[in-house]
Order: sequence, then C-alpha cells, then structure tokens
Amino acid sequence: MSQADRARDLYAEALVWDAHSCLPLAPGIDVGVLARHRASGVSYVSINVGMDFNPLAQCIRVLAAFRGWIARHGDDVVLAGSVADVLAAKRAGKLAVSFDLEGSDMIEGDLDMLRLYRDLGVRQIHFAYNRDNKVAGGCHGADIGLTPFGKLVVAAVNDLGLIMDCSHTGHRSSLDIMAASRKPVVFSHTCVRALQEHPRNVRDDQIDACARTGGVVGITGIGLFLGQNRVETELYARHIDYVAQRVGAAHAGFGLDFEFLTSASDTPPGFEPTAWWPPEHYRGRGLGASKFVQPEQIRDLPEALLRLGYSDADILGVLGKNFLRVAEATWGP
Ligand SMILES: [Zn+2]
Repeated sequence: MSQADRARDLYAEALVWDAHSCLPLAPGIDVGVLARHRASGVSYVSINVGMDFNPLAQCIRVLAAFRGWIARHGDDVVLAGSVADVLAAKRAGKLAVSFDLEGSDMIEGDLDMLRLYRDLGVRQIHFAYNRDNKVAGGCHGADIGLTPFGKLVVAAVNDLGLIMDCSHTGHRSSLDIMAASRKPVVFSHTCVRALQEHPRNVRDDQIDACARTGGVVGITGIGLFLGQNRVETELYARHIDYVAQRVGAAHAGFGLDFEFLTSASDTPPGFEPTAWWPPEHYRGRGLGASKFVQPEQIRDLPEALLRLGYSDADILGVLGKNFLRVAEATWGP
C-alpha cells in the first residue's frame, strides 16, 4: 500500500478534533460556513463565543444566535455536550460543535456565571486574552501570575468539567494554572516558541507542564505564529512534530483557529485593536495580517506525519483521540 493510500485510510477512520476555530461574533451570522469543516472530514470543532473585549451582552447574543442556528440545522450540525454526543455525531455523519470562551472578563467576577456558560454549551475556557485581567496574565501582558480570584476560578472550572485552556495566557499564569488544575490542561491553539519566536507561542517548559497534566498542545494554523506567515502543511506538521518529540505524540493535537468571514465587523464600539494585538507582533494589523491554514489541509496531515515516521496510532491521536481523551477526563462520562 502506498503512503498516500495508507494516509487516506487513516483519515477516513479518524475522529478529527479541531480544538478551536472562529466565526464572527455577531447575531445573524451564517454558521453554515462550518460546512467546510464537515466536508474536510472534521468530526468536532470548538467555536469561540467571546474574547475579553466582548462584553457579556454580546457573548449571550452570540450564544443565542449560534444555538438557534444549530437547532434549525440538526441534519448537519449538533451541539455536543458530552463525548457520547461527539461519537454519535461522527457515526451519523454530522459535525459536532461546542463553544469556548477566550478569556474570563465575561464572567464579570462571578463564579456562578461559569455554570451558566456551561449550561449554554461552553465546554472550554481560557482565562486571559492577550492582556492581563482580574483572573490571570495574558501573553502580551506583564507576566503576572494567577491571581487569588484566579485560583478560585481554576477550582470552579475543574468542578464544572470545563476544559482548561492556556492559549493566549501569560507564561507565569499558564504554569500556575497547570500546577493548580486537578484535570488535564490544554493549549487549544498555539505554536512552538523554539520554532518561531512570538509571545503567543509556547515555551518548552509550558509544553512539559501541559504534558504532565495529561493535556494536549494544539497547534494553530496562523502563519504569523507558524513562522514567516507561511501556512504549508509541512511547516504545520513540523510544530506538531516538535511537541511529539519533546513530550510524546499523545500530547499533540491541533486547533486551527480558522477565521471564517473575516470581513464582517464584530468588535464592540470603541474597540482599539492595538491594545489587544500589539502592532510589533502583528505587522501592525492584528490577525488580519496573517495567512491561515485552511480546513481542507487537515486531510494532508496524516501523510505529512507518516513521512516524519509516526505510527498509525500516533496519527489517530494527533488528529483527535488525544483531545477526546482530555474531554473524557474533563467533561465526565
Ligand atoms: Zn485565539
């Protein structure tokens, strides 16, 4: 059997888990654009419903819109609340979706808000979006540690069975979170700092700490983080390979962070992009400056990993089983 045939067979069998992608955060958005994920063989995708700069009211409106769209399109997409839901959706040929929060300002200092978000379909959360907040430090912040309130948030997130995510989080805070968490911690979408110097990318000690929790480092398809704004599958696979060589393939995965319909404006009034995406790290234009790995490229990942010498089991893990393991340990049965 040729390597290409073997890769195709592997992909056909795989549960494919995209730990993070983005739709515009506006009511009336056509969630149907996720058909590209489904057509690309993706089984599950976590879609964000708010960053730290999105006020609570906007997050709730977005949740209402996404939930409404999914409810009206149950033949194609299902809102997944459990691992069983994800597996059932795959068997039925549907795309499973749940939601994530990129930051914690939208809980407004109230731990009970975490339960509300969970009830509305949120299954993954990180604590700070690039900037420092009352819970944790952001990757473009002053490298503060997890705050006293942040420690309470870690415990509540563990108790509620949400996946704890350290993407966008500052170095010190991420290490504090991983030390404090009783459950596996992930980086849903990041790249490797040793391959590309960028504050959004993880250092080796963060990769090591993530693996110690039983977590997964999900490599993101953002060209500015992958290196020189390049988005070839080989380069993408090299970041996965780095994590796998350092801590084992069981701790590598992917979170594309594919941005659909980026021309739509969804930022709140008075929003100042340079405050969240420092110009020196984003060629002055925020994420708009970046190229993105396309959902269709995930199909090419198995062959790229076979060429690097990975086993079938390793590749199935990277494609989705590793994040599925974290979901089982976190969401519960
Ligand atoms: Zn993000």
